[in-house]
Amino acid sequence: MIFEAFTQSGDETRKLGEFLGKMISTPLSIALSGDLGAGKTTFVQGLARGLDVPDAYYVTSPTYTIINDYPGRLPLYHLDLYRLGSPDELDYLGIDDIIARKGVIVVEWPEIIAGNSLRYDLELCFRTDRNFNRTISFSASGLESANLLQKLFASPGSTGKKAME
Ligand code: ADP
Ligand code: MG
Repeated sequence: MIFEAFTQSGDETRKLGEFLGKMISTPLSIALSGDLGAGKTTFVQGLARGLDVPDAYYVTSPTYTIINDYPGRLPLYHLDLYRLGSPDELDYLGIDDIIARKGVIVVEWPEIIAGNSLRYDLELCFRTDRNFNRTISFSASGLESANLLQKLFASPGSTGKKAME
């Protein structure tokens, strides 16, 4: 099942991330795909807020560091693979250890290491339309994450809709 949300500003994209963040209570991995400037990091800023990461932490793309981590209700690991040299680099950065810590893992540019050991419960795809608004599609793998999406899009105030069965 695929759901779609539509946002018309950076703040709305952030709110959507926060909305999802609030609903997360168990470890989850999320892939964020879409062009540069599509709103992936903006979404993660909201996600961090929804996971109660203190406002003192300012979430930016970990383009050069590859991984940033933040303390929240669950630990948040934000990865940006855009400048990853090779998949081996993730091993050096301790990806197995991070997976074992049972937090929320969000990955920008997941396609850079497609087919690798990272598996995603949710896949989000950000698209910019000709008016510079964003359509964000959500798909889940597994029952638990499918239920999470059902709940997210059924909530009052949710801007999304079911796009496909
Ligand atoms: P990415 O991480 O995908 O490269 P960023 O989140 O860093 O993108 O930057 C996206 C930019 O687009 C930010 O300035 C953000 O405020 C803006 N933005 C996000 N969503 C929307 C939207 N729906 N409409 C207009 N601007 C948006
Ligand atoms: Mg980014």
